[in-house]
Amino acid sequence: MAIDGSNEGWSERDAALIKAARKLAARHMVRDGDGFRLSKHDSADIGAFEDGDHPLIPEAAGGKDGMKQATKDLLADGVRIVSRMQDMLYAQNRWSVLLVFQAMDAAGKDGVIKHVMSGINPQGCEVHSFKAPSAEELDHDFMWRCTRLAPRRGMIGIFNRSYYEEVLVVRVHREYLAKQQLPPELVTDDIWDERFKDMRAWERYMARNGTIVRKFFLNVSRDEQKKRFLERIDDPAKNWKFSSADVAERAHWDEYMDAYGDMIRNTASDNAPWSVVPADNKWYTRLVVAATVIDALASVDPRYPVLDDAGKSRLSAARAELMAE
Ligand code: ATP
Ligand code: MG
Repeated sequence: MAIDGSNEGWSERDAALIKAARKLAARHMVRDGDGFRLSKHDSADIGAFEDGDHPLIPEAAGGKDGMKQATKDLLADGVRIVSRMQDMLYAQNRWSVLLVFQAMDAAGKDGVIKHVMSGINPQGCEVHSFKAPSAEELDHDFMWRCTRLAPRRGMIGIFNRSYYEEVLVVRVHREYLAKQQLPPELVTDDIWDERFKDMRAWERYMARNGTIVRKFFLNVSRDEQKKRFLERIDDPAKNWKFSSADVAERAHWDEYMDAYGDMIRNTASDNAPWSVVPADNKWYTRLVVAATVIDALASVDPRYPVLDDAGKSRLSAARAELMAE
């Protein structure tokens, strides 16, 4: 469906923003993983914003500072639109949205979640972070800890890391697999392909039940990660974010990139596409994620429920009763 500005409540400008957002989202979305090559995706891409050239950036926004302010304003507009759509999603109580975030350390997951979701009613949104699994979690199938936290109807659920760690960190560090208590005869060379299949099947199941699944890989370069780690070391306010284990993990960079590439090739689908989001420029990362969330919500055209005639008469009766008090 298209929100074209004729729909109740959306201004012409909002309609234009939604259209531009959906175009931006499409630029970075992978719906069919066949032939996917991560190396072909530029982590510093800034799309149509090259030289300030974007249909929604006012001409007056010249220079670097002007561009910076204009993209800030665009993000604020995007957040406002996400928030309004989420309010309608909640009122309808039919669809739910699951946003999955995966990335190398310091790619900006936390910042994206904070900025893009900042305008949303806290009652309509849940964030879950998945760290190294607990003993209880290891005693269950690998999807268990995530599936039980899937969003209810009307809600946006955010997974900060997810079941995809099972084909990323666990693939790079095989010793984690050994801790999973799997019957040895089930652990074969096919295990990663089997996991991809199970993830696809679960996502298809969720889609058939009314959950819109969107997955984000924040694609940061090795050089940019180094820069951000150094900032964390040099800036006392950022020291708390730094972990020396993250630096050690850089030794496995190429293995991670191979694992990410294979994951996207095998699990991008129409039901649950991956967005490969350039993450060397935070402002662009945030715009693309906001645009993709708008695209996901717009795809089901959320609207406030309209009362039928019986409902309207109930309202009139209630009004009469209140007035008669
Ligand atoms: P931060 O930006 O604060 O570092 P984070 O998401 O990296 O956020 P951490 O506290 O570092 O949070 O914990 C996440 C760690 O847990 C990651 O190194 C991740 O690879 C690991 N992890 C997540 N899921 C699994 C899993 N299923 N098995 C093993 N390790 C996992
Ligand atoms: Mg970490």
